[in-house]
Amino acid sequence: MSMVDSPRADTLGVIGGGRMGAAIAQIFAAEGFDVVVVEPNADLRAQMPARIADICRARGQGAEAASRVTPVAAIGPELADRALVIEAAPEKLELKQSIFETLGNVCHPRTILATNTSVIPVTAIGARARRPERVVGTHFWNPPYAVRLVEVVQTESTSLETVEATMALMARVGQMPVHVRRDVTGFIGNRLQHALKREAIALVENGVCDAETVDFVIRNSFGARLGIMGTLEQSDLVGLNLTLDIHKVILADLDRSVAPQKLLVDLVAAGKTGASVGEGFRKWNEAEREELRGRLDKALLAKKTGD
Ligand code: NAD
Repeated sequence: MSMVDSPRADTLGVIGGGRMGAAIAQIFAAEGFDVVVVEPNADLRAQMPARIADICRARGQGAEAASRVTPVAAIGPELADRALVIEAAPEKLELKQSIFETLGNVCHPRTILATNTSVIPVTAIGARARRPERVVGTHFWNPPYAVRLVEVVQTESTSLETVEATMALMARVGQMPVHVRRDVTGFIGNRLQHALKREAIALVENGVCDAETVDFVIRNSFGARLGIMGTLEQSDLVGLNLTLDIHKVILADLDRSVAPQKLLVDLVAAGKTGASVGEGFRKWNEAEREELRGRLDKALLAKKTGD
């Protein structure tokens, strides 16, 4: 039995106060929501007000949102009256399943239970949830206050009412929800992103060009258009006959690896895991790394999204 009559409007629970959880908490608190964050790490709980205030500053906001975020150590009665709970705990299936099982026992029957998983099927995460019709995916991007799209993922069990209510809540706090009608691995954005990444790795692996050239081509050719015009709009604009003619020639030649490619596996095995260690697909120094991060954050925050 639930301890409350109904979920309270403008309330959020977040499970996991790490990088994504804290940012999601800030987004809702900044719009006046009362937010409870479950974070087992005591240091992260103690730092929560300062971390929320930092995000407020990065967004050019006052820091009042920090006072609307309450960190707690474990799932408990504070979660009972939440309208929405978003799970942003580590990307481990068993852990997420047990969180959803516990939430089902603690939360009001009408609380929406959402997962921010990157690639685990939402259906599997909700397998032990008491009310699968209230379980939905909400895939945010990093950082979620700057990249504002949220993929709202419907499983075969999720009710349309749950999807619609989730999308309305996302829109209310300024995110841009899209409805993903089937629980496919990687949803929409990561499927597209990794289809491109697979071909990018193959081009380097096959000696067509180096990693810097792949990224230079992306940024300065079709990538320069992508923020303005999507890939299917582009086909429509130039005419589908051209896309058909091109596909007749090119599709059979594109990479079709069904497992991680050798180049990626070898780099990771050699400890070349990317910018933080000085080398990944390309070499990095600290100044280059920080310059790129800074430029990216600034450009994303300045971008007017929604088209
Ligand atoms: P993170 O490691 O920064 O945060 C996870 C937090 O969960 C940690 O603070 C950890 O202490 C806490 N935690 C551990 N066990 C817990 C438990 N039993 N209950 C509650 N909290 C617990 O990870 P993150 O990058 O914030 O990712 C969280 C989720 O969001 C993952 O599923 C990830 O795949 C997904 N995601 C991440 C990104 C990204 O770019 N980082 C983007 C989209 C989705």
